[in-house]
Amino acid sequence: MPKAAVCVGLNEPLEIQDVDLEAPHAGEIRVRMGASGVCHSDLSIQNGTLMGSFPMVLGHEGAGVVEEIGDGVTGFELGDHVVVSWVPQCGECYFCKKGQGFLCEAGQMAMVTGGLLDGSTRFSRGGEPIKQMACSGTFSEQAVIPAIGAVKIPKDIPLDIAALIGCGVLTGVGAALNTANIRKGDTVAVIGCGGVGLNVIQGAKIAGADEIIAIDMLANKLDMAKEFGATTLVNASDGDPVSKVMELTQQRGVDVAFEVIGLKQTIEQTVMLTRRGGEAVLVGVPRMEVMLELPAFFGVVLMSKTVKGCWYGSSNVQTDVPKLLEYYKRGELKLDELISRRISVDDVNDAFKAMEAGEVARSVIQY
Ligand SMILES: [Zn+2]
Ligand SMILES: [Zn+2]
Repeated sequence: MPKAAVCVGLNEPLEIQDVDLEAPHAGEIRVRMGASGVCHSDLSIQNGTLMGSFPMVLGHEGAGVVEEIGDGVTGFELGDHVVVSWVPQCGECYFCKKGQGFLCEAGQMAMVTGGLLDGSTRFSRGGEPIKQMACSGTFSEQAVIPAIGAVKIPKDIPLDIAALIGCGVLTGVGAALNTANIRKGDTVAVIGCGGVGLNVIQGAKIAGADEIIAIDMLANKLDMAKEFGATTLVNASDGDPVSKVMELTQQRGVDVAFEVIGLKQTIEQTVMLTRRGGEAVLVGVPRMEVMLELPAFFGVVLMSKTVKGCWYGSSNVQTDVPKLLEYYKRGELKLDELISRRISVDDVNDAFKAMEAGEVARSVIQY
């Protein structure tokens, strides 16, 4: 009976429960989690920013060891180390064949239903099913996930480091390396310097950006941004960040701007501080009711700006996870520095509180 952190209702503290776990069905594997990052999206399910149905085992940024393999699964052996991909990528659907695994059709329904690919879930308690967030449920000592939602990794990578790759790093670094088209020498701005924003910053650095302007309202986040490669810090609580960025760029705006918060105001600012012909990349997850207001002619058409959405860092996980681990091994990607503390699954509510209070780096659950 694995111990799991279960979200029992909107704005309710997570309950630590012993849950039942069914054996993997065809196409699934059972993973003993080594670690799980606590991501802002977990909090967003609990507070209703993202839609969830309850009870649900949260957690979607994990890594662990394969302990059981369902029928028809190829490519995995018992004992393999894997990173959980919360977007399962089948490799066969329309989008996967176009090289856009992050849009894979296989797991789309699961994202809505809180089940696995067939809509059902392997967690239960007293015979009542418990949903699993995003085909994952990594806030559990063990989880059954689709085999196409796992990426094999070398065994010498510590699992707490590997776990981070699964969401925040793929999303942030992917936004810079995959979604955006950063050219060598570019000037980049990043609005929002939380966990994902820091990864956008280090991704922009890897992509060859010269100037990286970090924008946030919290000084502690800006300090972290500097450590991850930001060259200029703008504290948005000191005044309008758009005019500040214009001042810094001879009134041109930046080549590529990223929004990593998900608020109407900051998204609109991100588009406005992008230069003529530049790209605004929207990474932050807004509440579902958020609508944008942009000056269509002067703000977008005349300026020839591209506004791009970014889901899961536009990642193809089977190739991007190994690529990111290579950057890590070469010392170009900071991962250890993203972890602020290692906790037990019993302390996950404290990690949520720290996140709400503005803690930048990740709490990582170790099992
Ligand atoms: Zn996440
Ligand atoms: Zn697919």
